[in-house]
Amino acid sequence: MTRPTLVWMRHSLRLGDHPALHGAVSSGGPVVPVFVWATEEEGNWAPGGAGRWWLHHSLAALDTALAARGSRLVLRRGPTAETLVDLAKTLGAGEVWWNRRVEPAARQQDEAVARALQDAGIKARPCAPDLLVPPESLLNKSGGPFQVFTPFWKAATTQIPVPEPLPAPTAWTPPETWPESLPLDALDLLPAVDWAGGLREHWRPGEAGAWDRLSGFLDASAAGYSEGRDLPGVHGTARISPHLHFGEISPRAVFHAVEAHAAAGAGQGVDAWLRQLYWREFGHYMLHHFPHTPEAPLRGEFAAFPWRDDTPGLRAWRRGLTGYPIVDAGLRELWRTGWMHNRVRMIAASFLVKDLLLPWQAGAAWFWDTLVDADLANNTLGWQWTAGCGPDAAPYFRVFNPVLQGEKFDPGGAYVRRWVPELAGLDNPWIHRPWEAPELLLHAAGVVPGDTYPKPIVEHAGARDRALLAYRQIRRG
Ligand code: FAD
Repeated sequence: MTRPTLVWMRHSLRLGDHPALHGAVSSGGPVVPVFVWATEEEGNWAPGGAGRWWLHHSLAALDTALAARGSRLVLRRGPTAETLVDLAKTLGAGEVWWNRRVEPAARQQDEAVARALQDAGIKARPCAPDLLVPPESLLNKSGGPFQVFTPFWKAATTQIPVPEPLPAPTAWTPPETWPESLPLDALDLLPAVDWAGGLREHWRPGEAGAWDRLSGFLDASAAGYSEGRDLPGVHGTARISPHLHFGEISPRAVFHAVEAHAAAGAGQGVDAWLRQLYWREFGHYMLHHFPHTPEAPLRGEFAAFPWRDDTPGLRAWRRGLTGYPIVDAGLRELWRTGWMHNRVRMIAASFLVKDLLLPWQAGAAWFWDTLVDADLANNTLGWQWTAGCGPDAAPYFRVFNPVLQGEKFDPGGAYVRRWVPELAGLDNPWIHRPWEAPELLLHAAGVVPGDTYPKPIVEHAGARDRALLAYRQIRRG
């Protein structure tokens, strides 16, 4: 009889297009899927509160999907390498399969697991990560990694075909006896005080939820993506990022589903969306080639940037009480739903690093804790891009004006009214600049600046000059 095989489930919490599961099932013997919880192996980047909430529900959904195929998910605590070796020995398993990841700590974990298995005489079977572009497979003409998005994207889309997704295995043999498993609650992923009502309202973690999100987007918003994607007040984007982060849907499967949708004649907007999907690839590619960047700027001169230390400013930003409505709306959307629209992420991040002159790492840490899609590669890319110190970054001297950004991308004020309800009674154009509204209008709208809604914690024009001065300092060395 064929020996059992272990599948170490990491971030690929799905059954479809799962190279490790597919490989293990192809071996023909009993298959045991296992998830190992070992935050101490994640370096500085153990999942934050929102990520843990998502993970809990994603593991539950995966277990249900496995149960429908006569299987189950075995849960264990780390250390990962020892746990997998012990489990494999107990079952008499000959191989352990898994999908690789690109985060620096995950790569170390890969190596430690492969070594421990080899020492124990068990075969390690690492498979492709959840990416369209294996990061080691694409280099520029000088043999180095690309550092600018457009040439990366052109090279990736012309040189690296996206493999067809693997089908989800329909059935496989269970082991004769299932090994012991922790109950899901024992992993302690849910918050002790339940703040997750908004998350429950907005999301359905798991593979089925991921596909629903994608098809909802393709049916309703894909055609208008080029125009709608920058408007936070409308549902113009796919909101699929947490599903991609946890690997509930593979980017290869997404790519082919979107192409098929376009081929069926509903293609408008799809090219712009697929290009955006390659930004995710670029983030992972950069993290693979520059693993120090979650903590340190890619552009070395920024290490000497004279960031300020301003605890009250940081607290006001986190709580959405800066006095700039579009910034506050974004941070409150984040707190309530675990997600923030991309345009508003850029505005809110720019406000922190340029208007408040606070280090991008402080913003990245807050996003890490509060985003359901907190992703080391994409978060690092987004923050370094905004701060001007990363690859292909916006030039530092281009400072977003939060009022003009609000007026341009939330022209009717719907987004601000939704997330900053104390301003809802204000008409345009004052909704994005309440401190300039005439007394009578403020009174009629029930807004008392400094009382019902904060006055701006910093004056934008002066803050912009201060930021540009700081930038000139590092440029002069
Ligand atoms: P859509 O517009 O529907 O795009 C589809 C997919 O393409 C996204 O799900 C995402 O996987 C990818 N994508 C789109 N835009 C980007 C981008 N700019 N960079 C990388 N990938 C992109 N994204 C995360 O997934 N996790 C993060 O932790 C994260 N932190 C960010 C921090 C900052 C400061 C900024 C400016 C951006 C950050 N992003 C992050 C990127 C982007 O905001 C989100 O991917 C996007 O808002 C997700 O929403 P969506 O699925 O509706 O995107």
